[in-house]
Amino acid sequence: MNIHEYQTKELLRGYGVAVPEGRVAHNVDNAATIAEELGGERWVVKAQIHAGGRGKGGGVKVASSIDEVKQFTDEMIGSHLVTPQTGAEGRLVQRVLIEQACAINKEFYLGMVIDRATQRITVIASASGGMNIEEVAKTDPDRVIREAVDPAIGLAGFQCRKIAARMGFAGKQIGEAAKIMQALYRAFRDKDALLAEINPLADIDDGHLMALDAKMNFDGNALYRRKDITELRDFDEEDSKEVEASGHGLNYIALDGNVGCIVNGAGLAMATMDAISFHNGKPANFLDVGGGASPEKVGNAFRIVLQDPNVKTILVNIFAGINRCDWIAEGLVQAMRDQDIKVPIVVRLAGTNVEKGAPILEASGFPFIMADNLDDAATKVVAALEGAT
Ligand code: ADP
Ligand code: MG
Repeated sequence: MNIHEYQTKELLRGYGVAVPEGRVAHNVDNAATIAEELGGERWVVKAQIHAGGRGKGGGVKVASSIDEVKQFTDEMIGSHLVTPQTGAEGRLVQRVLIEQACAINKEFYLGMVIDRATQRITVIASASGGMNIEEVAKTDPDRVIREAVDPAIGLAGFQCRKIAARMGFAGKQIGEAAKIMQALYRAFRDKDALLAEINPLADIDDGHLMALDAKMNFDGNALYRRKDITELRDFDEEDSKEVEASGHGLNYIALDGNVGCIVNGAGLAMATMDAISFHNGKPANFLDVGGGASPEKVGNAFRIVLQDPNVKTILVNIFAGINRCDWIAEGLVQAMRDQDIKVPIVVRLAGTNVEKGAPILEASGFPFIMADNLDDAATKVVAALEGAT
């Protein structure tokens, strides 16, 4: 789960990381009031969306007057900001962060991720921070410093000083950078993060280091024990179908093809998507109804999949273990009765109570296309697609 820059900065401030004074604004008047209260002569207006690269897309602007603060806020809020990370359709900006503008001497990169190969939190740092870090990492990987953290010891002081020295810090700034690393590490570990990033970590004109941009991403499977983080979730930034699905206990991920998939189990979902691709079809989604799918759950699955206008056919692939094919079949028939389903539906049922499930579908009178196995199902759903488009 992602959170906004202003939320990450608040969180890191609590851990002792220096961040610019600032507050989030929802409209022009709000923005002007915040800038006046902050005082000073220059402010930065920053679009708050769950995507980076905003500076390159016009989502970070320095204002030299209150009028400019208002102007930039007005331009950003309500617009679709396109950055190298958003895709062509961009992201709707609903709020901006107004903060003090700092005079920057140099920009550094400091991040932490879980390295799955070593199974350790790994610090990633570079003296070449700022808006081009992705390019630096590609063209000049030697300028990226990596240091794995031993979980039994935690991030040690000597490691921080070593990283800081390699980043090019000297004198007091070594200690300051080390403190920021420790703080970022504590926040990362305390909050079950998957990624934490300060870019830029800036050396500013008063000689101190400050986090001018910050981003964190949290492990969705740990949110149950991180209520404070869950409260920061911004549903406007997420696919509405994915949000609705998670509310119904369904795992749904939107993709860009046209074959809707309703499947039980993530492994079977992957295999189903592979089989569809193998037959030159393109999955429109990944939907896992899980074990013990009730007819209601199946109905909700259909409703969510059909909200995607690209869906031209649906493949229901159930291998029932804990599930029961007769329940799934009842759910399918109920969904056909309740919903105006016009797309062809291919059904493959196997496992528990399959002998009861298939007759329910046949007796219903609805035109389900029955398949014997996964390959047959994928062949039929792609053929149905050709008929449907
Ligand atoms: P993004 O990473 O999405 O492009 P950033 O918040 O990193 O957005 O902003 C882009 C650039 O704008 C930074 O690299 C920095 O040079 C500048 N910047 C951001 N915030 C401030 C600030 N408070 N004061 C001065 N410059 C800033
Ligand atoms: Mg940045």
